[in-house]
Amino acid sequence: MEMDMVELREQTAGLLNDIGVATASIKGGTLAVRSPVNGETLAYVPEISVEDARQAIDIAHDAALEWRKVPAPVRGELVRLLGEELRADKEKLGRLVSIEVGKSPSEGLGEVQEMIDICDFAVGLSRQLHGLTIATERPEHRMMETWHPLGAIGIISAFNFPVAVWSWNAALALICGNAIIWKPSEKTPLTALATHAIFERALKRFAQAPQGLSRLLIGGRDVGEALVDHPKVPLVSATGSTAMGRIVGQKLAGRFARAILELGGNNAAIVTPSADLDLALRGVAFAAMGTAGQRCTTLRRLFVHRSIHAAFVARLKAAYESVSVGNPLDGHLVGPLIDEASFERMQSALNAAREAGGIVHGGTRVTVDGCEGGIYVRPALVEMPGQAGPVLEETFAPILYVMVYDALDDAIALQNDVSQGLSSAIFSNDLREAERFVSHEGSDCGIANVNIGTSGAEIGGAFGGEKETGGGRESGSDAWKGYMRRATNTINYGRSLPLAQGVSFDVG
Ligand code: NAD
Repeated sequence: MEMDMVELREQTAGLLNDIGVATASIKGGTLAVRSPVNGETLAYVPEISVEDARQAIDIAHDAALEWRKVPAPVRGELVRLLGEELRADKEKLGRLVSIEVGKSPSEGLGEVQEMIDICDFAVGLSRQLHGLTIATERPEHRMMETWHPLGAIGIISAFNFPVAVWSWNAALALICGNAIIWKPSEKTPLTALATHAIFERALKRFAQAPQGLSRLLIGGRDVGEALVDHPKVPLVSATGSTAMGRIVGQKLAGRFARAILELGGNNAAIVTPSADLDLALRGVAFAAMGTAGQRCTTLRRLFVHRSIHAAFVARLKAAYESVSVGNPLDGHLVGPLIDEASFERMQSALNAAREAGGIVHGGTRVTVDGCEGGIYVRPALVEMPGQAGPVLEETFAPILYVMVYDALDDAIALQNDVSQGLSSAIFSNDLREAERFVSHEGSDCGIANVNIGTSGAEIGGAFGGEKETGGGRESGSDAWKGYMRRATNTINYGRSLPLAQGVSFDVG
């Protein structure tokens, strides 16, 4: 289906208007927002100055001092309302995600569903922010842990999950009693404005929220830096490239603030001789080509056992040749790259792979009728003689490097022998192989799956990775603890003062 360029811009303006974004927020600004679908400029968004950003942070700090007084289950009610508002506008926000990032409709909607899921999770959690009671060695004493809010916390997000990442952080941070300050990617301010407008609707329905509980800072790197440097921000949760995290992490450490870092991945899967190869093929294809290879959990390296290598790679090649590349809004499985620079990086990685002896299939530019301004590319499958050169890096594009292995321990060692540690998978029906992979001697990643691909995590589990992926955890399990501070309280309800470890100190 051919798409009229003007139609996309008008569609976006209509969606933003329906959601409740003020026209002044998307007109006459300095930040040009471009849809990767067809390259069209959708809006010119005003940016906040560094000075105004600092003031907004001060206001959020004051709001946090009030918000922490509201009981946690009551704070949960605000997040429940956010979930309700998101449900009401799921279609509209999902469509905006698809337009601004170039995702298929089901991926756009899936991203909003993830926001709804984390809201539900956080509502329940708002009654479970519990600490331990710990046995004490002293008579007539009690020792316990209490968890307290941190203050106004920063959220820096990447372009590829422009709204879900905010919600993972925001839903937890809010029920934990914190104010939130969001610096979205400069490539995706429209979905951020829409999300914020949806949250403001929830705030209007909730009487107990202080002014300034949530701030949105639209701007570039300098605004992100202002957030990272501000002394009143005790925690910054930053999602993006390892290059960004290296700078942000060091700055936060320099002022002893906390960091939750969710950075780049170089995810791998192992296909063993016992694997269900039909299932493995589908798992590999979605993880490697979905979202045009622009997920932090995208499958980038594949180790296939020698005995099945030729047959499996032949099937994979066929899948790569037949996958539909085109306008994601029309339901094509592989949509555009975010921009030209991304295409250039993909080409230079493929050239480096060729120089290292790799055989490249695909990776060429695709012209899509009606979307000539978009950057479309056929996903690349690269048969590599070994793990070297570009295979060691994250190139944020659809490139899958395939390598052969003989012994499982060698494959696991290779999978771990990169600087990133986000997601990993094994396809195997052999219990010993699968258990070995998820054991302490197996994958060193934050996510280690069996018989599913590397991408597509659920919010119930803690999400994040090791090594240069940053070590942060967000979303489910006990990730909430990252948004609170822990106090250990010892209470003496007796009349004497026994000291720990039998120490005596008698005065008078
Ligand atoms: P990016 O690093 O270019 O930008 C991410 C954000 O950081 C943006 O909002 C940007 O403005 C901000 N930023 C950049 N430099 C900064 C600085 N010095 N101080 C403060 N803020 C700064 O990343 P991107 O291209 O938008 O996203 C792609 C990358 O994100 C990939 O590497 C991908 O793997 C990673 N990612 C990781 C996860 C995860 O959970 N581990 C999730 C999504 C994306």
